[in-house]
Formats: sequence, C-alpha cells, structure tokens
Amino acid sequence: MNDDARIGLGYDRHRLVPGRPLRLGGLTLAQDFGLLGHSDADALLHAAIDAVLGAAGLDDLGTLFPDTDPRYAGADSTVLARTAMDLVQRTGLRVVSLDAVLLIDRPKIAPHRAALRQSLAALFGVPADRVNVKAKTTEGSGDPDLVEVTVVALLRSTRL
Ligand code: MG
Repeated sequence: MNDDARIGLGYDRHRLVPGRPLRLGGLTLAQDFGLLGHSDADALLHAAIDAVLGAAGLDDLGTLFPDTDPRYAGADSTVLARTAMDLVQRTGLRVVSLDAVLLIDRPKIAPHRAALRQSLAALFGVPADRVNVKAKTTEGSGDPDLVEVTVVALLRSTRL
C-alpha cells in the first residue's frame, strides 16, 4: 500500500572548526571555517537524507554510507543525496515537502535561505516553495560552535 503519506524525521549535528569549507545544503557558505566530519559534513543534507530515507522505510544514512568506510572520506554529500533519492524512487515514493530547522550561530543563514531552498529542491525533486529552511541561534544557551539540524520530510506515492 503506497497511497498513504509518509512522514520522516532526520537529525544531524556537527562541530564548526577552522580550516575547512562550510558545506550546507549542497552549497559552500564559507571557506575559512566549516563542519568537522568524515564526509564533507553537510549536516543539512545529512538530516534531509535521513528524513527522506526514514519516510521511505529505508536504511539510514549511516548504514548506507558508513563513516568507517574510506570510500566516504571527504564525500560530497550531494552525491549521497542523489544515491539516496534513487533508492527512494525505487520504492514508488516521491518527496512532497521538506521543512528544516538549523541551530547555528554563524554564518547568518538569512542571506543564503533562498539559495538553500533552491539547492534542496533540486536535489530532492520538489518545487522550492515546498522546501523551507529556518535558522535559530543558540542565544547563549549552548555551544556556539555546534551546528544542529532537524528536517521533516513528507513523501507520497508517485502514482498520486
Ligand atoms: Mg552528518
């Protein structure tokens, strides 16, 4: 039964460090500081991929692309997103909408918001007006170098 709507939730967290480009949502938002991780550490894409995989009932990102596998060292997460979307499409589902919240102190996300929506829309095959990206700052409540992302995805059958 593929006619029902499926909701998926994805979450990721990476630390900001100097000396790496900042990759978020498939874009490079800064050159002199970025997220630490085995792959390019694109926390927004990682959370979005997990939300979509979760909704489709598929294995999660860490199972499909283990961070112990040298093949994924420095991996471009847009490639992981495309691979994940191929698997999702084979289940007869498509992405209807994505909604993301970032907890991030720097850089300011507002100037990049439209580009991030566009980039996610292209990667997950959904119109940009069905992708939302919201950002909050820690306001002294936590570690300003920790970036956290939560994404909710809605999927439906490709027959609908
Ligand atoms: Mg990650």
